[in-house]
Amino acid sequence: MMDIQKNILKKYFGYDRFRKGQEEVINSILQGNDTIAIMPTGAGKSLCYQVPAMALSGITVVISPLISLMKDQVDTLNEIGIKSTYINSTLTNLEITERLFDAKDEEYKLVYVAPERLNSGEFLNFLNEAKVSLIAIDEAHCVSQWGHDFRPSYTRISQTIENLNERPIVCAFTATATSEVKDDIKKLLKLRDPNEYISGFDRENLTFSVIRGENTKKFICDFVENNKEQTGIVYTSTRKAAESIYEALINKGHRAGIYHAGLTDEQRSKMQEDFSYDNINVIVATNAFGMGIDKSNVRYVIHNNMPKNMESYYQEAGRAGRDGEKSECILLFNPRDTQTQKFFIEETIHNVERKEYEYRRLQDMIDYCHTSNCLRKSILEYFGEENVDDKCGNCSVCNDNEEKEDITVLAQKIISCVYRMQEKYGAILIAEVLRGSKNQKVLKFGLDKLSTYSIIKEYTVKEIQEIINKLIADDYLVLSQGQYPVVKMNKRSIDVLKGKEQVFMKINKKVKKIANTGN
Ligand code: ADP
Ligand code: ZN
Repeated sequence: MMDIQKNILKKYFGYDRFRKGQEEVINSILQGNDTIAIMPTGAGKSLCYQVPAMALSGITVVISPLISLMKDQVDTLNEIGIKSTYINSTLTNLEITERLFDAKDEEYKLVYVAPERLNSGEFLNFLNEAKVSLIAIDEAHCVSQWGHDFRPSYTRISQTIENLNERPIVCAFTATATSEVKDDIKKLLKLRDPNEYISGFDRENLTFSVIRGENTKKFICDFVENNKEQTGIVYTSTRKAAESIYEALINKGHRAGIYHAGLTDEQRSKMQEDFSYDNINVIVATNAFGMGIDKSNVRYVIHNNMPKNMESYYQEAGRAGRDGEKSECILLFNPRDTQTQKFFIEETIHNVERKEYEYRRLQDMIDYCHTSNCLRKSILEYFGEENVDDKCGNCSVCNDNEEKEDITVLAQKIISCVYRMQEKYGAILIAEVLRGSKNQKVLKFGLDKLSTYSIIKEYTVKEIQEIINKLIADDYLVLSQGQYPVVKMNKRSIDVLKGKEQVFMKINKKVKKIANTGN
């Protein structure tokens, strides 16, 4: 069995070995299992159904919403000797009938179709009369309303498969990893006890950094100045911020460009072109920039603001280093970014469930900005990969040689304050109580009477708040969902209180170092 797959890989595709994750997916399919594979764009998903297609006796039907790519894909396959065709609305009825006729005769190993095709009686007849061994569903997240690419026609797929005389193996591919989307894929595509694989998210040549509390405009100007020869992208969360940084760069004499949805189509395509042809070396952009960007030598991606969730961040940061050369991904975090993103959610999302979903994803993003753990590990675990090394040695957390300190006593003080405040308040008020603030709210709620009032003197309210955020990010405390989240305890908080678990953390340099004196 092993040999057949390797032979196909070598014979048709010319590759000597599978990439991480591909072989498991292929084995699962060839053993007859329904399979769900989660891999990012570019990781090599297509091979995971193309190799089985060549190993299985019948036809493989590939359902894909990307009509514009079908012709190219099919042309490429035919060039390497894998007989394939596609059926979609760009063809005449006669052409479709002809192709289906040939497919039934097993002239093709792969038949690509758009999901809309499942509404056609002719195509459904074909499915029943031909020998279909495998149905591969590309961009499977389109079946879920949680994503942003929901396609009603995807919801017909399961029905179509159920109606077949003989059920083929079904495999689903996507780059989206949230558990909500994954559950929808399994449920709505009616996968039967599917094997699940997540792989390919690691980008070894990228160095990840999170930098908090910097003057971002100055940081970016300095960075661009120090990397004049390199090409990069600076992402901002608003047009206004994009314009302000763009102007600062231009004023300093840099060859900069700008890109956001407020520009005319003409201005935007000009910018895109200038960027592609290296007429400019840095482009300041909102998230409107990126679709269809295929520049391989982007050496850095700096985020001036925290994006709305990890998917967006990783997609944007991932535009660096497509050529495999070492590249930098730097996220500049400012606590105001959290407010901006919450504001976006409140303004644009009205469905309650959906709102909670976006808040949860935002919290994962905030946690990434505060974690004391390896950033690469945090990313890969977010996407669901398993057995990730504890340290990558190539991110701002790993690279920072500064030792983590034992802050157990400090953490105990904070946690007991959360407890005394009955898990009803947000991080700022908790920090104010710990610090002994006399502010209105503290006095009004009588919080100055608590035994934990004013027990941390060595840090400012801001610094304490930052430490609370880190405790949340590292799972020593939890934050409730919603617009006004409150800090709550979990099992680990109690272990820390009881002295069963110690807390080690790297305290921000601006914070004075007397964490563990117990006073
Ligand atoms: P995806 O569908 O996941 O976006 P593709 O299937 O288009 O990605 O693959 C991306 C690129 O990686 C293609 O150029 C493909 O030929 C290449 N590739 C896939 N698998 C391998 C492999 N095992 N060895 C080398 N290159 C591979
Ligand atoms: Zn690391």
